[in-house]
Amino acid sequence: MRKQDVRRTKTVCTYCGVGCSFEMWTRGRDILKVEPSEGPANGVSTCVKGKFGWDFVNHEDRLTTPLIRENGRFREASWDEALGLVARRFAEIRDAHGPDALGFIASSKCTNEEAYLMQKFARGVIGTNNIDNCSRYCQNPATTGLFRTVSYGGDSGGIASIEQADLVLIVGSNTAESHPVLATRVKRAHKLRGQQLVVADLRKHEMAERADVFIRPRPGTDLVWLSALSRYILDQGLEDKAFLAERVNGLYELRASLAPFTLEYAESVSGIPANTLRDLAERVAHSSGVCVLWAMGVTQHCGGSDTSTAISNLLLITGNYGRPGTGAYPLRGHNNVQGASDFGAITAFLPGYSPVSDETARARFGQGWGVTLPEKPGLDNHEMVDAVHAGELKSMYVIGEDMALVDSNALYVQSAFEKLDFFVVQDIFLSRTAQFADVVLPAAPSVEKEGTFSNTERRIQRLYEVMPPLGDSRPDWRILTELAERLGRPWGYTHPSEIMGEAASLTPLFAGVDYARLEGFASLQWPVAADGTDTPILFTERFPFPDGRARLHPVEWVEPAELPDLSYDLHLNNGRLLEQFHEGNMTNRSRGIHSKVPDTFVELSPELAQRRGVRDGSRVRLTSRRGSIEARVLVTDRVQGDELYMPMNSVEEPINVLTGSHTDRVTHTPAYKDLSVSLEVI
Ligand code: SF4
Repeated sequence: MRKQDVRRTKTVCTYCGVGCSFEMWTRGRDILKVEPSEGPANGVSTCVKGKFGWDFVNHEDRLTTPLIRENGRFREASWDEALGLVARRFAEIRDAHGPDALGFIASSKCTNEEAYLMQKFARGVIGTNNIDNCSRYCQNPATTGLFRTVSYGGDSGGIASIEQADLVLIVGSNTAESHPVLATRVKRAHKLRGQQLVVADLRKHEMAERADVFIRPRPGTDLVWLSALSRYILDQGLEDKAFLAERVNGLYELRASLAPFTLEYAESVSGIPANTLRDLAERVAHSSGVCVLWAMGVTQHCGGSDTSTAISNLLLITGNYGRPGTGAYPLRGHNNVQGASDFGAITAFLPGYSPVSDETARARFGQGWGVTLPEKPGLDNHEMVDAVHAGELKSMYVIGEDMALVDSNALYVQSAFEKLDFFVVQDIFLSRTAQFADVVLPAAPSVEKEGTFSNTERRIQRLYEVMPPLGDSRPDWRILTELAERLGRPWGYTHPSEIMGEAASLTPLFAGVDYARLEGFASLQWPVAADGTDTPILFTERFPFPDGRARLHPVEWVEPAELPDLSYDLHLNNGRLLEQFHEGNMTNRSRGIHSKVPDTFVELSPELAQRRGVRDGSRVRLTSRRGSIEARVLVTDRVQGDELYMPMNSVEEPINVLTGSHTDRVTHTPAYKDLSVSLEVI
């Protein structure tokens, strides 16, 4: 093969919210190497997934032609037949039962343009706000905490801003494995600049090992110790009085709400000694800049939104917004979970977070799309499953999410899919979810299309087509465009830049977003003004509430939804591994990655292992109130006492057979971490 056959194409990683960008070297469909050089989020770094996790693109399991279920089996079909069937059945169900009898799940693995089109399809073609994406599984509570207090739900600054902090507090985030390149930059600032690092987690992971202070609160008690820090700081007069006077409302109400949260009360609930909390409060109050990073260890509890709010309250009373080295950083999980919500694939908001109840916003989008838009917020992911069981939701269209594995209480979700009148799944593999479908549409992964992703820093970046779609698979934006046309809405897009152009023209948050401004490795952090000026740091002058002031928001603590008892006596924590992504559909099909973690395991503390007579490598059965799975034991002091930990990516032994249907009280984000199990040796 000649040298000139080698192509170098810029793309953005499809695995996590850090948003590493790099050039992919290819010859035909062979990926020769991944070379990071000037990524705005990652510089010259990637992690193992970004570097080696691409075999799935050419895997023999890729879907390459549409499938239609007939007599209980799939048969191959042409696009014309498959799209014709989907359009006809959607129209029939809408006409017979109304538009709210259909539900739509967009993918946070897909591009911004595709998220925008999926919500436009639900709202503008079908006429329902029943549209959601997987931010419902993870970061909606964090967004809610920020909506309440500072208005924008995104990270306050960029990764570079985190590096400038005097103190970084990480709560409920295994950052070194879930957001590896971002973690590397925190490690560097800690080691080279003397940045203080404080970690609060159940598990002694790598960042905890490196921390100056590591605390292990009892499960589901973060709100209590965080609120105790706020109360102590206010009691001691250590708050930022000038910042509060000039920029923040609600101090009186917050102070009153904090009355129960003495250090002693916090110790009794969380198990963290009062002296440790006092020292921590002093550190936070006396630091020149504090960034708080948090993830699913906070959000996937029944009080996830309220704990996220308590984090923002703490930042506000200490004046830690609006400057480099300060702010709130809910670390987004999927590569485009930020963008999927930004571009409107959520129940209650049009693109740019305009509420569907806002008549002016509805009129703006309605005129742009030539339709009248529905006003009532739709069903979220969790509510859709219940509505299927209730016989109210008749049809679903799921793009790129393996809900049958990743939704909590997975067996309940799978039984809902069996009840649907008509089920369409669009994906790159015949996922567990797709196996329930009536029609499966073969989609193209990120390297086979153009578009943009938004990373955890609100940074919009372009990806270019590295290779053409495999077989007869197609980019999601093209499939949606063709489907809309068959339902009487000829959108006419021929390239994703046209979709972004339309979205930007209708959405003030993205007014200046334009493919020309995103050429190559260029990027923009929203809000982007019409002249292209972007916003690396939020809230430098005002908070985007009408009076320009932030709002302290009182919150209360309630116990986790599920606590250990005599029958289910152990707490099971769950999360990511460095090498794996989510349910593993892509990483398990990448040889180099899969060989590193070929099976699943459950971590047991040495003391629990001794008590139960279990050794490294023993096999155990874990049983919750919903079901049972089996796993190999790994004895490690990363966990302590009666705490267990298990990765979330096994297809064979999926953790969500165990998790329940309880959710965050505000957002319906599954409380994956409120989970009790029994353990038996097999
Ligand atoms: Fe970067 Fe995340 Fe991809 Fe790793 S998985 S290369 S940290 S974007």
